[in-house]
Amino acid sequence: MSANERRRPGAEPARRMDALATLPVFVRASGRRVVVAGGSDAAAWKAELAAAAGADLHVFAQAPGAALAALAGRPGVTLHARDWRSDDLSGAVLAICDETIDAPAFRAAARAAGALVNAIDRQEFCDFQFGSIVNRSPLVVAISTDGAAPVFGQAIRMRIETLLPAGFAAWARAAQTWRADLKALALTFRARRDFWERFAARALARPNDAPQESDRAALLAQAQAPETVAANARGRAILIGAGPGDPELLTLRAVRALQSADVVLYDDLVSQGVLDMARREAQRLNVGKRGYKPSCGQDEITALLVELVGAGKVVARLKGGDPMVFGRATEEIEALQRAGLAVEVTPGVTAASAAASALLASLTERDKARRLQFITAHSRAGGLPDDLNWRALADPKASTVVYMGVHTMPALVERIMQEGLAGDTPAVLVERASWPDERAVVGTLATIVAQTQAAAPAGPCVLLIGSAFSHAARG
Ligand code: SAH
Repeated sequence: MSANERRRPGAEPARRMDALATLPVFVRASGRRVVVAGGSDAAAWKAELAAAAGADLHVFAQAPGAALAALAGRPGVTLHARDWRSDDLSGAVLAICDETIDAPAFRAAARAAGALVNAIDRQEFCDFQFGSIVNRSPLVVAISTDGAAPVFGQAIRMRIETLLPAGFAAWARAAQTWRADLKALALTFRARRDFWERFAARALARPNDAPQESDRAALLAQAQAPETVAANARGRAILIGAGPGDPELLTLRAVRALQSADVVLYDDLVSQGVLDMARREAQRLNVGKRGYKPSCGQDEITALLVELVGAGKVVARLKGGDPMVFGRATEEIEALQRAGLAVEVTPGVTAASAAASALLASLTERDKARRLQFITAHSRAGGLPDDLNWRALADPKASTVVYMGVHTMPALVERIMQEGLAGDTPAVLVERASWPDERAVVGTLATIVAQTQAAAPAGPCVLLIGSAFSHAARG
């Protein structure tokens, strides 16, 4: 236990630990003797782990398999082409045997030598088990089910893999070296703890940026004179694509960003399931047209964003779909940059992609759609924009996806037909793509307006026009 993890005098006594099937400990194997008996691939995998941990590894196998043979020549690895003997175990800390070995005899010899034993796939002869490992060394996570369900353990490992950014390894390595710098300052317990809390906050907020010399300098400066360092050093905005609604369509990066945020600013279209991915303690503010204030204009949202980031907060700015598609991202990015504040963008699944997936219809098809165009049929003034490229929209070899287009659909569709696109061109309206109550209205340019009026959609909709949608699977 390091000094900063030690309990402070006067702190609440720790709660009793529930019963543990095994005691999880992390063994320093570097330079210490580890014995593996048996030549199977399973033995080779354990040998590989011990070798990765820098052990003085001795493998005894009359007939080593290919996986073991491949370990030959690694520093610290000695392969002995014979069966194990009792005296091989002397000085060993860990002893591992595979299913070809007489486990009771091996365990007796290992215990006599003072080593802990693992008999692969024979629980009853094991003093210790290997967990499933998530490796961000020196940060290491191991999962054990006490042999009850190793495959379940591996599935949980995959979950944790996706949650722990690869960059945490670099932060943990930085901690190893910065620890000495901190020690040299001879600070109080409280100041050291503050240092590590700020360190963790930086690592969590910017997991995939390699820790820099400037991070080290800033953290050490703060540790010595906390009040002289600007409070906003940590603030940043992350524009996050919340996707079309289904939280399963968030990217892993979006989930991580949400879990690092102090404040979440979200639009109306963002679903509860997506918001649930944020940290429990994060403050959530609805800045959609119907939230926050009666009418939350873009200028107010931008100002709020700048204010929060300027105050040192990590702000997740959640936007429906992809932030870079009809999302007014530029205004927010430019305002943050003007204020000298950090901003980054995490892309998301745009409504057009979700709608095409719902229909099992590709947006592009070699023979039917040479071009894919996204338009919004909603001008600043509210009506149909007058600067649309009508020739492009009437192109029979284009797929067109219309965002924000329900209100102006009659005028849009009429004009596209006047410009020459045939009335029997497929047209599909997809409402609430990816939500449980997603709906599709499948028709043609000539029929879609009446069909839409009859369907009276209340949720967000995109209109897809073009021959690529002639096989729209849902109706
Ligand atoms: N940035 C968003 C678009 C924002 S504009 C994106 O990339 O998807 C808002 C419009 O997006 C809505 O009016 C609607 O046309 C469309 N939209 C958003 N979510 C949708 C969904 N789940 N289903 C259908 N259309 C959606």
